[in-house]
Amino acid sequence: MNWILRIISAVIVLAIIAALVRLIPAHLQVRTVTPPLPKDEALLALLESPNGPTKLSYILTSSQQLERGQISHISIVVEWQDGKRFLIDTGMDHQEAKNFAALLQKMDSKAGEATVTGNISELLGSEIDSISGLGYTHLHIDHTQGTKNFCKARGKGAVVLQTTSQQQLHNFNTTEGAVLVANSCLQKGYFTSGATNNLYKSPQFPGIAAFELGGHTPGSTLWAVAFKEKVLLFSGDITNDAASLHQDMPKSWAYSYLFVPENTARTAEIRKWLHALDQSDAFSVIVSHDLDNTQRYLKEFMKRND
Ligand SMILES: [Zn+2]
Repeated sequence: MNWILRIISAVIVLAIIAALVRLIPAHLQVRTVTPPLPKDEALLALLESPNGPTKLSYILTSSQQLERGQISHISIVVEWQDGKRFLIDTGMDHQEAKNFAALLQKMDSKAGEATVTGNISELLGSEIDSISGLGYTHLHIDHTQGTKNFCKARGKGAVVLQTTSQQQLHNFNTTEGAVLVANSCLQKGYFTSGATNNLYKSPQFPGIAAFELGGHTPGSTLWAVAFKEKVLLFSGDITNDAASLHQDMPKSWAYSYLFVPENTARTAEIRKWLHALDQSDAFSVIVSHDLDNTQRYLKEFMKRND
């Protein structure tokens, strides 16, 4: 009997060591990305950009009911007067959306099946050829996998804009997405050299900026888009819904420390910052997986804001 117990304890100890070997570097790495938050004036200056975005819409690729509410996989389409478009996040294709939903079902006994609206290239239809740039809020697979079907339909011709952290810092949850993006049809786009107030801009896409958020993943990026009189802030997965942002609710301990290594001090700082900005008429924060929050500001594709 004794030897059985010894084997079981050895296996448990080895499993703990293996988990720590995986988790500790990821936790240390995500804590290296903490640039000072940009000043309000720097974000508002985007509204002064000549030839800024003229239309903004969202595309819902899939969704799933979870115990705490619905998780929606949403991409954002920014459009300029000349017809050029920029896409933020690509969602997942049909099969990957089902696989992802099955994974969440393992963690949430009340989770439903995936409802798939379509993949990003089906939903963009012929508009896909006008997408000349892409950006990601972060490189988790539910935000990047659709790049495969995007590329199949689009071919070469679009650039990807990534901050240095998003390009270079990966962990066990983002490596797959990073490789997928690096090997995709997307050509490397460039920000204007040197960030002003930590905001990265590209002359090709006036009126939008990227900021290295960190917190959720080392490459987590805030996309700021000047639209009409407001600056819309796309916060990715800093929180999974708008309510958590406004009620200052962190994710569960198991989520932030075991499944998705987060810098919880940084996510707390960002939650407070974004909540305060959202109180002002000049800013609205849009949370990646929150459909109601997105619909409050944007209309679905094809029924765009005019
Ligand atoms: Zn996500």
